This record gives sequence, C-alpha cells and structure tokens, in this order.
Amino acid sequence: PVDPGETGGSDALRVLRRVFGYDAFRGEQEEIIEHVVSGGDALVLMPTGGGKSLCYQIPALVREGVGVVVSPLIALMQDQVDALRALGVRAGFLNSTQDVDERRMVEAEFLAGELDLLYLAPERLRVESTLRLLDRGKISLFAIDEAHCVAQWGHDFRPDYLALSALHERWPDVPRIALTATATKATHTEIAGRLGLQGARHFVASFDRPNIQYRIVPKEDPKKQLLELLRTEHEGDAGVVYCLSRKGVEDAAAFLVAHGIDALPYHAGLDAATRAANQARFLREDGVVVVATIAFGMGIDKPDVRFVAHLDLPKSVEGYYQETGRAGRDGLPSTAWLAYGLQDVVQQRKMIDGSEGDEAHRRKLAAHLDAMLALCETVECRRVRLLAYFGQDSGACGNCDTCLTPAETWDGTIAAQKFLSAVYRLARERRQKFGAGQIIDILLGKKTAKVIQHDHDTLTVFGIGTELSVAQWRGVVRQLLAQGLLAVEGDYGTLVLTEASGEVLGRRRDVLLRREPERPARAAKSAKS
Ligand code: ADP
Ligand code: ZN
Repeated sequence: PVDPGETGGSDALRVLRRVFGYDAFRGEQEEIIEHVVSGGDALVLMPTGGGKSLCYQIPALVREGVGVVVSPLIALMQDQVDALRALGVRAGFLNSTQDVDERRMVEAEFLAGELDLLYLAPERLRVESTLRLLDRGKISLFAIDEAHCVAQWGHDFRPDYLALSALHERWPDVPRIALTATATKATHTEIAGRLGLQGARHFVASFDRPNIQYRIVPKEDPKKQLLELLRTEHEGDAGVVYCLSRKGVEDAAAFLVAHGIDALPYHAGLDAATRAANQARFLREDGVVVVATIAFGMGIDKPDVRFVAHLDLPKSVEGYYQETGRAGRDGLPSTAWLAYGLQDVVQQRKMIDGSEGDEAHRRKLAAHLDAMLALCETVECRRVRLLAYFGQDSGACGNCDTCLTPAETWDGTIAAQKFLSAVYRLARERRQKFGAGQIIDILLGKKTAKVIQHDHDTLTVFGIGTELSVAQWRGVVRQLLAQGLLAVEGDYGTLVLTEASGEVLGRRRDVLLRREPERPARAAKSAKS
C-alpha cells in the first residue's frame, strides 16, 4: 500500500506521515520498525502510552502480506480495527464475539489478500482450522501484544499464550515481534524463554516519566488531604482519583462536588450511558476530575491530565505505575499522589486471604502487595525504587517526595521489640484475635473498655510505649509489615509474628524506621489509618 512515487525518507517514515499523520517517530520506534521490516524478531518493552502499536502496524503495511496480531483484549479489537479502518488501513479481526457469517467474511478477505492487519484472540490459534487458514494466506509478521500474558508469574497469565511458541515452528521465516508494558527482569526473561525469542533483538525503553512527581503520604483524612492538594496545587486541573471500591468512588466524588470541584464518578456499577457521558466530559472539557475504580483508564488517552491521586493503596507496583502513568502524557509537570494507611494493608491482606484460586496464586498476590508496601515505606528516592522494580537503574531524581524532603530515619529497634512483644503476649490468648488498634492502646497504657474487658491492663507490656503517639505507632506497624517483620492474618486483621520477628525479639537484628512527618494536632486527632 505504500506509494513508491513519494520521495524522501524510508518507507516506514512515509507510512507514518501519510497513513497515521505523525511527523516523526518516538523513542526507539524507528529502530524497532526497521528491524522488523527487514525480517528480524523483536522483544519490545515500552511503557503504556509509549507507542507500541505502530511498531507492528507500520511493518505490516511495509512488508508484503498480512500482519497477524495476537491480542487478549477482545473487548478492544473492534475499536482498534475501526480506528485503523478510519485511517484507510485494511484491518479485520477474528474472535469469539463474532457469528459465523462475520468470521467467514474476514476469512475471505484474508485469503483474497485484502487485509493488511488481522487481529486474533490467542485461543483462535489453538484451533487447527485457524492455523490451516493462515497457511493459505501470506503472513508478513506475527505481533504478540501484551506478551507478559505468557508469564506464569504475573497477574495476567493466559494459558493460551503458551501455545504461541509453536508459531515459529510452523512459520519459521515470518518475523515475530512481542510487546509488553509490564516487564520486570524476571518477566522479560520468561517471555523470551516461553515464546522462543532468545534470538530476538531486545528493545527496552526507559520506564521513567521524569515530569511526574511521585508523592506518597500517610493517610489521615484522605478526602480532606486530597482537597487540600487540589486547592493548593491543582486548582482547575484535570485529574483522576482512584479508589478501591465503588462506594469509595461515590463518597469521594460527592465530597469533591460538595467542595466545588467539578468531579464525576466512574465505576462498573454505573450504567453504560452514565459512564460514557462522564468519560466524554473528562476527555472534552477542561478541568474535570474523574473519581474512579481501576475500571477507568484502559485506552484513555488524554494528554493534559495534571494529577493522578490514589485514595487507596494499589494492589501492585505495576498497577500503580500504569495508573499514575496516565498523568502528564504531554510531558508537562504532573503529580502522582497516594495516601495510604495501615487499614489499606489490613484490608488487602483480607482480600488476598479470601480470594479465589490456589495457594500459589495467593502467594503471588501477597508478593505484589509487599512490593507496593516497600515502595510506600522506602526512605530512598521513589523513582529509583519504582524503576528498580522494572529492572532499570537510575539515580536519585530530585522530583519525588523523598528527594525533595529527605526522609529521616530513626533506630526503631526498641519500639519494634515493644510492639512485637505485645503481639506475642496477645497471641498466647488463643481465644481472641486483636488488631493494631488494641495493641497500640495497650502500649500507650489506655484503659479503654476493651482493654479492661480482656484484662490487658495487667499485661507486662501495658503502658510501656508512651514515648510515641498513636500516629507514630501506626507508622511503626506499617513499616514492620512492609519489612516483613510482622504479618496480617484472617478476617479481623489479626497481627501475627513472622520468622523474621524472632530476630528482632532476640536482639539479633536492628530495625531502621522512617520518621513520620510532623503534623498538626488537628490532623492527628482525626487519624483513621
Ligand atoms: P501503547 O500501546 O504503547 O500503550 P499506543 O500505541 O496506543 O501506545 O500509542 C499511544 C499514543 O501515542 C497513541 O495515541 C498513538 O497514536 C500516539 N503515538 C504513537 N506513536 C506516535 C508518534 N510517533 N508520534 C505521535 N504520536 C504517536
Ligand atoms: Zn526521587
């Protein structure tokens, strides 16, 4: 489809300009495209929004034959194909949402050489008839989108992806390009191994988003904290506020509206028309704040989102990175702000314990949560930690909270010993389970009804922790959890010791803690986290 009459630049550049209407390639796009056009295999790691699609769409247009794109996002296929057709690209898809007639038509187009791109759900490639169909046409390349779905240690594992290694055996001369936005070093290696892409050239884009300022604060009165942020730094700006639950979304949206912010809710419980209307206002108007569950964001491409705020802890670093990554696509300064507290940890552990799936699955979820906690409690540069998670080295950034206000640390060994001994004492009362609140009351020597009822004022640890405030103790607990020196169990957020707790109690290990920022008494009083 490329007009050879045009002069200047490569075929790829001409397609970029003529078909897609862009002036220049971004980042490594050009190198990747040239490599695939000339028949090479590629493994591409690029953050969401980085421009992965062009990396296979342009080679498919430049090379002879049909580019076959494997994608698990069936719900998006129709949109992707429509968008391509609107640009004049001959695209089609085959998936389970189609009836026989629709499928037949696409197959006929494929065989007649009337397609440039054919999108396939991965399960299609396990069907022999699909493979035979492909045998009868000319394939220019295989693109394996969302390639991390082949990794068993990941949150999107798709067994159908394992079968994709067979593509190379059946069509050894067709180049393959695997693409993903979520790749730690381990996932990266696993993708190459499982897809038989050891010989592929690896293209690893930087995951750094330098214009995003990362900030993570202890949760006190999260909606008020958020309002303060919006009023002082983001007056009239467009932004996204993420909450874990639909109720959280409704509450926060109502609160913001009551305080004069143009906020709209978005979650799967709203009817489709409301969701579409709210999303459209966010995209088209200036300064709209969407309060949403993570259902919001897939495929949203708004360049001037000035802040992304989380009122609840994301479940993984990947999720956090993807959600915060929706801020500042235009490259201008933007804020990623997260408020998190002890209750988040307790709640998420509870959800993990109660989740479906086997023990290995729960362990995986717990490991994701632990990595997220470690990011929250780090005294290092947030960006360094975040990029390290994706296997990328970097220096302190100067544009995150810990760089701007270096976290002070203190020797929390004695505080940790006090807290862990209290947990140990209570664990011996097998009948009853207690959470952090009760233990902190005991350490502070508070004779609450619950303390007296359980005779906890007679424990040797009663009143031995008055040197710290409630907020400071909560900080200690969060950090002990983040460091694996304490764990949460069961429905009531019961705290239990870990193997490593023993080292602290046995004085074989020191505990370094991050000092909680000083806060006015007003905030401390309404402390909820
Ligand atoms: P990804 O799949 O990596 O998340 P996309 O391929 O969807 O990213 O691209 C993100 C956005 O960037 C899209 O709107 C796309 O059209 C745009 N884009 C990609 N490459 C370029 C480019 N070279 N110039 C301008 N815009 C681009
Ligand atoms: Zn930093």
